Parts: sequence; C-alpha cells; structure tokens
Amino acid sequence: MIQRNNSYRLLPFKFTHIGNKELIVNEVGDYLFMPNGTVQRVISGSVNRNTEEYRDLLSKFIICDSYNDILQDVIATRIRTKKSFLDGFTSLHIFVLTLRCNQKCVYCQATSQNKDCVNKDMKIEDLNKAISLMLKSPNPHITMEFQGGESSLVPSLVEHAILETERQNKSVGKEIKYVICTNIIHFSEELLNLCEKYNVFVSTSLDGPESIHDSNRGVSGSYKHFVDSLLRIRERLGQDRISPLMTTSVLSLNYPIEIVDSYRQLSFHYIFLRPLNPYGRAKENEDWNLYFDKFLEFYKKSLDYILLLNKRGEFFVEGFTAMVMKKILTPFPIGFVDLQSPAGIINSVVVYNYDGYVYCSDESRMMAESGDFTFRLGKVSDKYEDIFYGKKAQALSRVWATEYIAGCSDCAFQQYCGADPVRNYSTQGDWYGHRPSSLFCKFHKAVFEYLFELIDRRGNEVLPIIRRWIYD
Ligand code: SF4
Repeated sequence: MIQRNNSYRLLPFKFTHIGNKELIVNEVGDYLFMPNGTVQRVISGSVNRNTEEYRDLLSKFIICDSYNDILQDVIATRIRTKKSFLDGFTSLHIFVLTLRCNQKCVYCQATSQNKDCVNKDMKIEDLNKAISLMLKSPNPHITMEFQGGESSLVPSLVEHAILETERQNKSVGKEIKYVICTNIIHFSEELLNLCEKYNVFVSTSLDGPESIHDSNRGVSGSYKHFVDSLLRIRERLGQDRISPLMTTSVLSLNYPIEIVDSYRQLSFHYIFLRPLNPYGRAKENEDWNLYFDKFLEFYKKSLDYILLLNKRGEFFVEGFTAMVMKKILTPFPIGFVDLQSPAGIINSVVVYNYDGYVYCSDESRMMAESGDFTFRLGKVSDKYEDIFYGKKAQALSRVWATEYIAGCSDCAFQQYCGADPVRNYSTQGDWYGHRPSSLFCKFHKAVFEYLFELIDRRGNEVLPIIRRWIYD
C-alpha cells in the first residue's frame, strides 16, 4: 500500500540498474545515481523530507512537493528546449546528384554505379524543382548537402545547384550552408574554386591508415590521392573547412588505436566512430549480431585511448560520445538524426534523389536502389505539402517517437535515444519494430550503459574532458 507520510508527489521517471546502483532518469533526461532500493522507497512514499536524498530527488524533478502551475511551466520549458530541433522543421536537404562513383567501397551503402554509367545523374529540371522545394521549408537555416555516388564527378551539377539556389534564394532570404560529400580522390581546381567562392564545407571519409583505407575503398592508391587532395584543400580553404567521417568495416574492427592515430597523423582533432549500417552492399556481407558486439569492443578501446590522449594534454574529440554525452549532460538537443525523437526523417532531413524522387532519409533512398520504394515521399514535381505533410509522412509520424513505441516508452534511456522506422523496416520487416530483438536497441542500450558506467566510476577523470568536447 502506498504510504504518503511525507506527502510528496511523484513526477514521471524511468529507471534501470547500472552496476549495483539505480539510475533514475526524469522526463527531460536529468539523471541520478542512487543506491539499490531507492525507487521502491520513492514510490512507496517513504523518503524522508529532511534528507539530502529528498533534496536530490526534488531538484532532479523525480518528485515534487505539490503539482502547481509554476512547476508545470518549468518542466514545459525544459521539454521545449530538448525538442527545439523541431522548431524550424527540415534543415538538412540532401541532393544525390549522381549515383556514379570512382571507388568500390566494400561497405557501400549507396549502391553506387560505375563512373561511366549513363542515366545516373540528376536532370537539371529536377534539380531546379528540388531547390524550390528546399526553399519552401519553414526553416530559416538550411544545409544543402551534395552527395552521390561521388559528387565530384559532376562539378557542373554542383555549380548549377549552388548558382540556382543563390538565384532562387534572393527572394526568400534563407541562410544556406553548402556541404559537398566527397571521397576527394579527384578533387578538381574547378571544385576548389567553387568551394572557395561559396564557402562550401567539404565532408569526406577517412577509414584509417593506408592499408585499411585502400582495402575499404576497394581501389589501391586511394589513400595517396586522399592525402594529396587533403593538403590542397586545406591550403586553399583552411584547416577546418574539411572534415572526415570514418566507417568501421569488418577489417577496421581490429585496429582501434591505429585508426585513431591515423587521424592524428593527418592533424585531425576529431573522429566519429561510426558502425556500418545494414543498407546497400553492407547489408549482404556480415553477421550483424557479431559485428555489433565487436564494434562495441572497438568503440570502447578507441574511446579509452582517446580519453588517455586528452588526459595527457592533447585535445582530441570522439564525436559520437560527445553527442550522446551532450544529451545526457546538458538541457540541449543535438543535431544527430539517428538519435532523435521524433525521428530525424522528414523532421530534420529529406533526400532528393538523382531520379527526381524524394525520400525521407539517406537510408530510404538506398533501399529504393534495391527496388524497395516504401519510404518514397513523392516526386520533386509534387506540392511541398503533399511531400512533407502527406499521407506517408502522417503514417510515419505514428511510429517515429520513443515516447510512445513499445519498449522505448518505459526505457530509462528513452530521452537519449531515437526512433528509426526506416531501420526497423529494413532489419525487422515493419515500421514499428520490436525492441527486444532489435540490434539498434541492443547496441545503443550497451553504449548508454557503458557511458553511464564511465560517469559513475570515472566521472572525476572523464567528465572534465567530455565537457570540453561539448562546450569548446
Ligand atoms: S531503442 Fe532501446 S535503448 Fe533506445 S529507447 Fe528504445 S528501448 Fe531504449
């Protein structure tokens, strides 16, 4: 029977066990480590008012003295802040300008085609229409990202896209950030000029030392071209206008330290440890259970090494950890579409494919390349409202939030995690998904548990480092 001796009220919270403690998390992601048995005492009303425990629970919005308007306003403001990534609606607009590529990456998720293939480039009229759709977004800050295939194979399309956007945007007035995603194997002077003139940010990929990078690219000599172009781009655009992403192939899993060191050798101070996703070519060739178990070990070893480097005085950031920790340690949201609720699809990202169709995410257009058009939202010639608020978007909205899907709705990590109907469909055959057998869930749960263990066991040592990553 619930006792109300201390007459406090409960606020919504979730909990789990980390080591021999209880981790209690409130509705906005504030957390408390407490001794085992605390939750039982909290809900039975037996926490004594005159204790530090009571004050901790009160300050973390796990309990309150009474329900009132002021408290409600405070919590509402906190929730609004956490969900402020929704304020402007879709901010990232991906343009797949071509499906052609000059590499043969072993994990290619974009089902890229040979560089000489025909009919795999975006038509100018589709590109113009896609730009018009992009500029209809209510978001005043837009990121326009050029992808492939390999976008550097179509410099004239990149140039046209920028010039047309500048032209159309004269009457709209949005702030546009241009990003070109490229392997920089053959990064021409023409593209360099364009990047310099229009402040284009270069997003590239580096998978580690020469042997790993070349093996993952499926083409020998890639690494040497990469380094040559990197130096040219840095010299012209500046050190910080190019940044790489790392994809962890099966081979990479054995080289956590070497991969981090390869980034340091090229004067990068940031790495984002990214697992493979089960799309495109990557889907066919791995035992995913085993892969994610090994990736977790790889992640822990790399992170441990990176923390050690920081302890020795070197500033070097692990991007995935920094993002998750920002969710855990601050009231603010992050711009990482994989860990959003409501999901990143449509709310934050949309893809205009080379063939004139619009998809709700990069992964969904990759699935379309294998003949599955489930997540096609429409054509670039359709009305904005029909694409972004149409029947498919509405149907997706019923399954795209951790707050209301089974498994996530009562998970202690709900506030830090994300919903992904596309991944659910791709791996489990339906949009809703089944958390107990989901590898996405298993992997992220393991990461959250590991990071909370770090906070609990080594907080004094690692939190100052991670706070620098977040706030610098
Ligand atoms: S996916 Fe798993 S870890 Fe993430 S919120 Fe849902 S149940 Fe929790």
